[in-house]
Amino acid sequence: MLSEAGGLAEDALQGKEISDIHRYGTQIFCELDRREILALQLGGELTMELERGPATEEAGESRAGLELAINAHLRLRLQGTQLGTRLRLLDETSDVDFLTKLGPDPLLVPAEGLAQLRESLARRRSALRNVLLDDSFVTGIGPIWADEILFQARLRPDRLVPSLSEEERERFLAQIPQVLQRALRSQAKLPLLPKTFLTRHREDGHCPSCGGALASVVVGGKAALFCPACQI
Ligand SMILES: [Zn+2]
Repeated sequence: MLSEAGGLAEDALQGKEISDIHRYGTQIFCELDRREILALQLGGELTMELERGPATEEAGESRAGLELAINAHLRLRLQGTQLGTRLRLLDETSDVDFLTKLGPDPLLVPAEGLAQLRESLARRRSALRNVLLDDSFVTGIGPIWADEILFQARLRPDRLVPSLSEEERERFLAQIPQVLQRALRSQAKLPLLPKTFLTRHREDGHCPSCGGALASVVVGGKAALFCPACQI
């Protein structure tokens, strides 16, 4: 039951059983009837709402979004921008180029993932923060966690990859899974994050390490937060 989902046909999901589910970076993949895959791109302003009770026909005002009828009494409604491009139904004939362009998921295979990242980093020339936000390097890192990784690695957001020493390179790579795993364990909730995390101090603007004032620098057109004293 779909109200607005871009290329998805109205009955494309009708009666299908979800036979498996995976997360990869910011993508959720639902396998349907062991044949097709429904891919959902998370992030941005996507929200979900679970609605109980029999479906009601809302005449006139149809709300933008996608409504999945789970059974006669339960519906899951997704609301957000660009839902049409966030949802794709894939089968063996689909163009899955976008999947092969995604970098490794840093939370899945820390050891192998790190080796892959090291190789990929060697080919980069841009600023570290841009590298972190690039889905073809690592998938699913947003601006806040990019700032945190760089703070923990004690490297400036605008440092260019070729300027890194061997030791700095390894420090940078090691912090990617470490910060993300810590964020995941805390469910990204501020009070549960270590006090040594920059993320906890985005509001008060003080460096948790030296107590100095945090600063902002524009990298690749986006503002990054960092400590000018602790990050070189
Ligand atoms: Zn500092």
